Amino acid sequence: MSEHQRETTKHQSLFQTNTELAFPSESATSWLQEIDLSIHDLPYVDHVIQEAFLQWRTEGQALTLSGQALWAVTDYEGRWIEGDEALLAEPFCGLTGEIGRCLESGEQVWVHPDDPADRGSSWVTTVIPVFTRRDHALVCLLVCGIPARFFDEGIRDTVAAMALHYRSCLYKSFKFALVSDILKVQESTEREANRRSILFQIMQRMHDQIDVETVLTEVLDSLEVLYPTIRARLLMSQDHQSRNPRVEPLVFHPWGEDICVRSFMDGRLMMQDGSGEGMEGQTEIAIPLGGKQGVYGVLHLVMSRELREDLDLQLISMVVDTAGNAFENAKLYEQSNLLIHELRLINELTHRLNQSLKLGDIYKFASEEMLDIFQADYCCFLQYNEERDVLEVMASNVPGLAPSFDAEYGFGGLVFHKKEPVILSDYSLNGKVPSKLMEITHSQSLIASPLTVNGKVMGAILLTHRSPHYFSYDNYRLLQTLSSHIGLSVSNALLHAELRRMANRDMLTDMYARHYLDKMIQQYQVSDFCGSLIVVDIDEFKQVNDTYGHQKGDDILRQVSDIVKSSIREEDVPARWGGEELAVYMPQLGVHQAVKVAEVIRSRVARETSPSVTISSGIAEWCWTDPQVSVDSLFYRADMALYRAKNSGRNQIQMENMNDM
Ligand code: GH3
Ligand code: MG
Ligand code: MG
Repeated sequence: MSEHQRETTKHQSLFQTNTELAFPSESATSWLQEIDLSIHDLPYVDHVIQEAFLQWRTEGQALTLSGQALWAVTDYEGRWIEGDEALLAEPFCGLTGEIGRCLESGEQVWVHPDDPADRGSSWVTTVIPVFTRRDHALVCLLVCGIPARFFDEGIRDTVAAMALHYRSCLYKSFKFALVSDILKVQESTEREANRRSILFQIMQRMHDQIDVETVLTEVLDSLEVLYPTIRARLLMSQDHQSRNPRVEPLVFHPWGEDICVRSFMDGRLMMQDGSGEGMEGQTEIAIPLGGKQGVYGVLHLVMSRELREDLDLQLISMVVDTAGNAFENAKLYEQSNLLIHELRLINELTHRLNQSLKLGDIYKFASEEMLDIFQADYCCFLQYNEERDVLEVMASNVPGLAPSFDAEYGFGGLVFHKKEPVILSDYSLNGKVPSKLMEITHSQSLIASPLTVNGKVMGAILLTHRSPHYFSYDNYRLLQTLSSHIGLSVSNALLHAELRRMANRDMLTDMYARHYLDKMIQQYQVSDFCGSLIVVDIDEFKQVNDTYGHQKGDDILRQVSDIVKSSIREEDVPARWGGEELAVYMPQLGVHQAVKVAEVIRSRVARETSPSVTISSGIAEWCWTDPQVSVDSLFYRADMALYRAKNSGRNQIQMENMNDM
């Protein structure tokens, strides 16, 4: 018989027995043979023998021998199972001799009293082997003591009939045990199937969740459905803020006796009898909640000790395992979403910043974006000014904030000098750093980050909020990332400005180039009413070059330029017009005022240059009432005046006159 057939037969037999209750005798034990099992291998056979015996005694009340004979039953090796206790005592002493002989011969044994006259006090004893009907396997022994006075040959038949009846009872009882066994198996299979179905549903629901909070609520709810009387809570190790009151932070006590902390540390289930207030008669269980990358918390269960017996710990552990994995997945999903969000922000920010190369625009955009991204109340951008050694406020929405601060002052100074970002959750508790920004705005929270380019700190970004504990650690981290992008844009704008400045400048004298002066005069002639132009030419410069060399000539040219620059107003435009000719345009200044400036320049040059040189100047003005207003005309007239100064002996100033027109 193949393994498969054997299995099938076994099952068929089981179910046949179930349906053929009217004829239990053969089928009840025959399947044992089919699967090579002896009846003695059945764990409940002693119980069946005992049950059958008690049943048989009840049913046989009315039989001839009832009430006079003593009966007992043993197992197939002669060990006492059930019966009249008297058979164990004198004069029977358990009938060990008779039993031994019966087991040896395999047949019924009869013992009659030695003295046939002593019928009043002696006993006839017998031991009857009970076999299965089909394979004649010994199941048990029936032991019987009959008072000798009742004995006659007819009794033998009665005893045989009673033994047969016992065998029927035995089969019936055996049948009953089998059926209840099947039912028990069925019941536990159903329970298992139910458990699997619950677990499957829980798993499905959990894996559907991509939200950390819902996963945690789901595990607690599932346990509540499975075991309504259990008190369950989750203790989370990370800084997980939950709205669920049953989710709490895991507190690490230094004494480390807590079952939850131990379970978290060891990463395994722990159980102990509850101790302390309100915990009498309770059992505590802690199960770590973890995934592939680590343990995130502990599920803590408290239940009555009786319930503990019924608790399906394997099922709970599986639920918690599922929850741990689902939590991990949800957490990773949350983190990747955060990352995507950050990348999108960076992308948008840099896109906006790159739309302009003007420093002012960049600071303005950046501060608008920072206020929006972090939902901050106030924002302040500081940039270090090397010449003045101060931090200049480049952009801010704080009314009444000073235009610049000492480079050491406040949080700006701190960030600038330490080159490190700062997070402050409650300004009122901070005694160390004074801050006008925090005070003016009544802010309590702050995040700040240095503005860095190529590792060099050039300023700081400060964001504040009036509520304490407003900014999160993620905000603080994000600001650092964004500030490096802003730093890059700022430095691009600075480089661009420098490039523009250089393009408009003359390298030797650091004055504006001629094209720039032309452009500026053109603009002023559109917007202003009047203005003057001074042209300056060094006298006999060729000779200076010849005497001292070209290098010295350059040096003198620089000295004269410096004198010109330091003698004029901020809004005046100094330029190198040609070789050793300089020019200054003075917006909204008439020719008479320009002469005074030119005179200052002339006398200073004569006095301050070394080796000493002199200059000649020509001055012209334009007025919006002139019939013709142009750059060329202005230059021409100034040049004519200069020409006259040269011709009149040099080292002097000449204004335009009508003849120059
Ligand atoms: P004046 O203007 O008084 O009539 O005499 P001048 O010698 O200055 O006149 P001129 O215009 O003939 O010569 C200008 C000289 O200036 C010629 C040139 O060698 C010199 N020069 C022009 N540009 C530079 C410069 O960048 N560096 C030096 N060292 N010399 C220059
Ligand atoms: Mg000259
Ligand atoms: Mg010249």
